[in-house]
Amino acid sequence: MTDPPPSSPGDPKLHWQDATIAAITADTPRVKSFLFAPAAPIPFRAGQHVDVRLTAPDGYQAERSYSIASAPERTDGIELAIERLGDGEVSPFFHDVAEVGDAIELRGPIGGHFVWSVEDGGPLLLLGGGSGVVPLMSMLRHRAAQGSHVPALLLFSARTFDDVIFRDELIAMHDRNDGFKLSLALTRDAPRRAEDFGRRVDPAMVAELVARLPAPPRHLLICGGNPFVEAAAEGAIATGIAPAMIRTERYGG
Ligand SMILES: Cc1cc2nc3c(=O)[nH]c(=O)nc-3n(C[C@H](O)[C@H](O)[C@H](O)COP(=O)(O)OP(=O)(O)OC[C@H]3O[C@@H](n4cnc5c(N)ncnc54)[C@H](O)[C@@H]3O)c2cc1C
Repeated sequence: MTDPPPSSPGDPKLHWQDATIAAITADTPRVKSFLFAPAAPIPFRAGQHVDVRLTAPDGYQAERSYSIASAPERTDGIELAIERLGDGEVSPFFHDVAEVGDAIELRGPIGGHFVWSVEDGGPLLLLGGGSGVVPLMSMLRHRAAQGSHVPALLLFSARTFDDVIFRDELIAMHDRNDGFKLSLALTRDAPRRAEDFGRRVDPAMVAELVARLPAPPRHLLICGGNPFVEAAAEGAIATGIAPAMIRTERYGG
């Protein structure tokens, strides 16, 4: 299993720029999406993230990383999906204070390891826990924007059906039958779709997902909080997937 190299804030290509919040959408009770229109376009690869910097009137600054949810093909800005952490510093600001028209500082794109493009081919196995689905969504939106039929499967672990970020869009992608399959692992809710599970990710679940692909996965990307990433990676290794093939992005927690 390989983890991404640390982001490089000293990279001279990275500079802070103002981005205006162009739209805010409530995705789930705990997650809102923010469309940012940056002063200069931010070309990126699906899976990369940006840093966000807030500055208080007294000069105090807070920086956090957020994966890009939109496809690189989208031209009106970049979308971030931010989960509200009750005791957090930055995420409650976005949920409770930020408004359309506000300017926020962004820099990026950051990260060259946790990326996928249609040219990389498949089968593609994506395992996301909670807001860890965000960079995987960018990959799937990119795949859809390119009209790709690369076999792809997303396992998305969420607490309940109502906590499934991008739910309608993901189910619509699945229903297109173009080689993409969605499975939900609901940890505090009963499964509603035949493809879904009503438990946390485990080795048997990963083995079942791998069996649903037309061939063994060539790319496996796992994103979420540390406990989810550990459990999903252990499950993948238990099914015989080579650790060197597993790419992870950890959000902390
Ligand atoms: C590369 C990268 C990409 C990320 N992308 C996203 C994204 O797309 N969407 C998103 O919502 N978040 C994302 N995060 C997490 C994000 O950077 C912040 O850590 C998160 O928003 C919490 O910030 P905060 O200031 O609200 O909370 P803080 O004040 O930093 O922390 C509050 C409390 O929550 C705990 N905590 C911090 N992060 C988490 C977490 N992820 N899960 C559970 N507990 C946590 C802390 O230990 C602390 O106790 C990403 C992180 C990384 C490293």
